[in-house]
Amino acid sequence: MNFSFEIAKTDATGARRGKLTTPHGSIATPFFMPVGTAATVKGLTQGALEDLGAEIILANTYHLYLRPGHELIRRLGGLHRFMSWPRAILTDSGGFQVFSLAQLRKITEDGVRFRSHLDGSEHLLTPEKAAEIQLALGSDIAMVLDECIETPAPRDAAEAALRRTTAWARRARAFFLACASRNGELAQWQFGIVQGATFADLRRESARQLLELDFPGYAIGGLAVGEPHAMTCEVTQEVAALLPKDRPRYLMGVGRPEQIADYVALGIDMMDCVLPTRAARHACLYTSQGRVLIKNARYAQDLGPIDGECSCAVCRRYSRAYLRHLFAAGEITAAILATHHNVHFYLDIMRQIREAIEFGNLAKFSSAMHARYAAGPA
Ligand SMILES: [Zn+2]
Repeated sequence: MNFSFEIAKTDATGARRGKLTTPHGSIATPFFMPVGTAATVKGLTQGALEDLGAEIILANTYHLYLRPGHELIRRLGGLHRFMSWPRAILTDSGGFQVFSLAQLRKITEDGVRFRSHLDGSEHLLTPEKAAEIQLALGSDIAMVLDECIETPAPRDAAEAALRRTTAWARRARAFFLACASRNGELAQWQFGIVQGATFADLRRESARQLLELDFPGYAIGGLAVGEPHAMTCEVTQEVAALLPKDRPRYLMGVGRPEQIADYVALGIDMMDCVLPTRAARHACLYTSQGRVLIKNARYAQDLGPIDGECSCAVCRRYSRAYLRHLFAAGEITAAILATHHNVHFYLDIMRQIREAIEFGNLAKFSSAMHARYAAGPA
């Protein structure tokens, strides 16, 4: 069996610690996926990612389809080989980027027609096409195409998007099952995505409809897009309660460092977010004591590390004063070092969370993080 998911321990909050196995290695759950949009996590080499202990990264189907093209990547041996990344990869469906980046979108029952944000060329992304692209990329986990709507969404828009998302999931599943097996073994895992905006009944309906399609894992999409954190948690809890206990649950696009443990406590096993990498490029560093805005003049003569509790290569070697100088001088090394630290920080949070589940003190870990981050940037 190429793929499996095992839960080793569940704590009193509902958090789960386990292991997801793919043909490119096993990943300790719950985990966080650094985002490697265009087959690279901006600012980090694959060697650095391996050293940081990343066991899985996310790559964007939309970006790779437009450039360099999925057929080219397939001819060159697939995404793992192309980018020289031996560990697991999850690809999104491309839908979120089509809805947020592309121009002149036209949604029909068939799919979504859009113009590339790069050169204006016209494309049609259908559920089958999104599955086909991801099979060509050869990612370990693929996502079905869903309709992403703006929030807050009016109820009729959320209902229409939900109907389409289910219809598209059916087509994606049928297409995938018809062509995903190689030598009788599954080459990829395909996950469904629960939608329904912030309407609890629509979320439940979406989950029920997708369960009929028997996906090996389920994602919760369309959250953390501007609604309050308490609402994100409420909807996540509603959906997670309906999802099969023995399958991985993926909350898409989250989250801030202090929120991660909250999602894990709701039974979430997988997360991804551009925050650690994007914030790093904007001189925002995450630390055990809260956010550090390193460009601040108060760090100009600070010889201390970014985070005194951090064991990353950057904190062991460089000072806050040096980091601040690099950002002030516009040196690319600034982004590289900051990204290294932030990704280490996120992966370390996940290590601490998995340990907290083991020892039954996740709630304590979570409230300590909230307290530190509520204090604001140092
Ligand atoms: Zn560090």
